[in-house]
Amino acid sequence: MRQETNDHNVDRYKPRRQSRRKKRFRRIPIFLFLCCLVITVTAFGLIKNKDPLGKEEWQMPPITAINTNMTASNTRSEETPWNLILVNKWNSIPDDYEVELMELANGQLVDKRIYPELQEMFDAARSENIYPIAGSGYRTEKKQKSLMKEKVTEYKAKGLSQGEARAKAEAWVAVPGTSEHQIGLSIDINADRTQSTGNDVYEWLRKNSYKFGFILRYPADKTDITGVINEPWHYRYVGKEAAAQIYKKGICLEEYLNKLNK
Ligand SMILES: [Zn+2]
Repeated sequence: MRQETNDHNVDRYKPRRQSRRKKRFRRIPIFLFLCCLVITVTAFGLIKNKDPLGKEEWQMPPITAINTNMTASNTRSEETPWNLILVNKWNSIPDDYEVELMELANGQLVDKRIYPELQEMFDAARSENIYPIAGSGYRTEKKQKSLMKEKVTEYKAKGLSQGEARAKAEAWVAVPGTSEHQIGLSIDINADRTQSTGNDVYEWLRKNSYKFGFILRYPADKTDITGVINEPWHYRYVGKEAAAQIYKKGICLEEYLNKLNK
């Protein structure tokens, strides 16, 4: 800037250049001194301006501290095969996610790729006098939103504020866009309640589902990692290989993927 101003001044006073030449020579040391002064002041200014930025950066909480509880969950990789896609409160469903659905006899929908093994699992259970029924399978975003609304209303009726009710509801209902039901790979399995109790069905599934590629997605001892309370009815298809490892090692999907991606 300073240089430009000087050039401009030189042009402006051109007609008087000859007569003032001597004076100008005498002014050179002053000019150089002023230049040095300007450079020094500018440099100090820059250094001074850098300080607040540095402090701000320093004051920001370290990212690792914020994400401590999420390290195991933030593990979705670009190359993850379809059956291992991670959907939880930290990993929402990709916008371009597409699912081809198949309708079960009772009208519930699931990703058509999991249907054969789901059928095999139900047949195997029945052959051992366990009678499961297919509860909620695929859900649209709209359905997930209405479930959330219902739960929030339920808590508000108990006297909680909107914020408190929403926080409580999120422990039970996945935030829309982060529910495995929206990708069609999960299904809630309950008992028919005439021939089998809920406990009978949950116990059988817990021990046998891995043989058909399904896992108990939200075990009671993994709630910190999955972000979801114990749901003995919620089963997720991951394929036989992953399901067997997850079952035998007593880990959850987040832990399995974390190891896989290392
Ligand atoms: Zn579920």
